[in-house]
Amino acid sequence: MSDTLHIVGGGMAGSEAAWQAAQAGVNVVIHEMRPKVATFAHKTGNLAEMVCSNSFRSDDDEQNAVGLLHWEMRAANGLIMAAAEANRIPAGGALAVDRDPFAESVTERLMAHPRISVSYEEIDCLPDEGQWIIATGPLTSSTLGQAIRAETGAEALAFFDAIAPIIYAESIDMSKAWMQSRYDKGETEEERTAYLNCPMDKDQYEAFIDALLAADKTEFHEGETAGYFDGCLPIEVMAERGRETPRHGPMKPVGLTNPHQPEIKAHAIVQLRRDNKLGTLFNIVGFQTKMKYGAQAEVLRMIPGLEQARFARLGGIHRNTFINSPTLLDDRMRLKSKPNIRFAGQITGVEGYVESAAMGLLAGRMAAAEIRGGDLAPPSGNTATGALITHITGGAEAKTFQPMNVNFGLFPPVEGLKGGRRGRKDRYKAYTDRAKTEWQLWLDAAEG
Ligand SMILES: Cc1cc2nc3c(=O)[nH]c(=O)nc-3n(C[C@H](O)[C@H](O)[C@H](O)COP(=O)(O)OP(=O)(O)OC[C@H]3O[C@@H](n4cnc5c(N)ncnc54)[C@H](O)[C@@H]3O)c2cc1C
Repeated sequence: MSDTLHIVGGGMAGSEAAWQAAQAGVNVVIHEMRPKVATFAHKTGNLAEMVCSNSFRSDDDEQNAVGLLHWEMRAANGLIMAAAEANRIPAGGALAVDRDPFAESVTERLMAHPRISVSYEEIDCLPDEGQWIIATGPLTSSTLGQAIRAETGAEALAFFDAIAPIIYAESIDMSKAWMQSRYDKGETEEERTAYLNCPMDKDQYEAFIDALLAADKTEFHEGETAGYFDGCLPIEVMAERGRETPRHGPMKPVGLTNPHQPEIKAHAIVQLRRDNKLGTLFNIVGFQTKMKYGAQAEVLRMIPGLEQARFARLGGIHRNTFINSPTLLDDRMRLKSKPNIRFAGQITGVEGYVESAAMGLLAGRMAAAEIRGGDLAPPSGNTATGALITHITGGAEAKTFQPMNVNFGLFPPVEGLKGGRRGRKDRYKAYTDRAKTEWQLWLDAAEG
C-alpha cells in the first residue's frame, strides 16, 4: 500500500485533513485546482480561503455547539483553529478573523511542513489506487462532480441544497399541534403518527400568505442558476404563483383530524417530519425557502404551535454539491463502493467553515491511521465532532438528507435534566461537559 495520502481540495477540510495526517507521520499531497481553475466564490489562490463571512461563529464552548466544536479542534491541535486564533479580530462572543492573513498563514504552515506538498491541478476522477480524501466543497468542479455522480448514481449527488427550516421538538406547542400521518397511513403506530401537524384557520392562512409575500428574500449569487426550481419550489414562490397554491401543496388540510378541536375543519395544515433518529429535531415539510433569516423566523412563528419555535437551522437554497452520506459512507468516512476514497468537508453534507474543518480533521486522522496499518474509530456521538459524523453517516434520514450545521439537537439527551427553555442553560452545560470528557478520552486513545 502506498504511504502517501492524496487530498483533493485545499479548503477548510482539505487543509485540516492534510495537517492532521502529516502530524501523524504520513506524507501528504494536496491537489488544489485554484488558481488555475477558478470558482465563482473564491478570489485568491490561497488554501483555506473563506468565501463569504469572516466568522467562525460563537466561541462559547459551554453554551454553544459550534463553540464546543472550536474547543474540540483546539484540543486536537487543529491548524484551522490555531490560524484563526492568531488572526483573531474583535467580534464580541464570536470568533472572527482577518481573512487574508488567516488563509496566508494556513497556506504557509502547510507548505512549510516537511511531509506536505501542494500540486496545483484539477482532479477529474475518483482514482482506483492509493488513499484519497475528496474535500472539494460546495463548488466541486463539474468534471469531478460528473465522476462522483457516475460512481454514486444521480440520486446520491446534489448540486443544490434545498433546506427546509429545522426546529427543536421541545420548542413546539403540543397543546396546538398533534402527531398524525395523513389518512393514518402506516403499518405501525410509529408510522401512523410520524408527522407533527399545525392547523390554521382562514384568517391565519391569509395573514401567513401576506407575510410570505412581503418577506425579504435573498438573491442568487452570481454564477448560480435557478434552473433546479421545479423539483423544490420555495414556499414563497408557490404563494406568488397563487394564494391558494400552498393549500393544494404542502399546506393541504386533508386526511388529518385535530384532536384538540375535532369538530373544526382546519383551512390549512403545516406538517413537520422527524429530522433525526433521536426525534429531537423536526423539519417543516415542503418549506424550503429563500426568505432572509430574520424575516423567516418571524413568518414561521406565525404558524400555530410554532410561536415559540427555536430553530436548529433556518431554511435556504444554495449552490452546493453534496453526497448522500447516510447511504454512501461508512463510519470511517469511506465510500462503501470504493473504500480507498474518503470524503470530508461540506461535500459530506455538513455546512459551514468549522463543521467542514472538523470533518477534515477526522478524515485526515482516520486515513493516517489506516495508512499506518491501524484503525481509528469515530469519536462518541456525545461530542460535537462525533454528533456530526454520527448524523451524516447514519443518524440523519437518508431520503430527506440536507446539509446540517452542528447544534445540540444532534446530541443524545443527558438524562435527568429539565426540558424546555428554562432548563436550557444547565442542559447545554451538561452537554458540553460530557462532550469535553469524552473527546479527551477519544484523543488519548487515538494518540495512544
Ligand atoms: C457562495 C458561498 C458562500 C458561503 N458562505 C459561508 C459563510 O459565510 N460561512 C460559512 O461558514 N460557510 C459558508 N459557505 C460554505 C463554505 O464554503 C464551506 O462551509 C467551507 O468553505 C467548506 O469547506 P470545504 O473544505 O468543504 O470546501 P472549500 O473550502 O470550498 O474547499 C474546497 C476546495 O476544493 C477545490 N476544488 C474543487 N474541485 C476541485 C477539483 N476537481 N480538483 C482540485 N481542487 C478542487 C476548490 O478550489 C476549493 O479550494 C459558503 C459557500 C458558498 C458557496
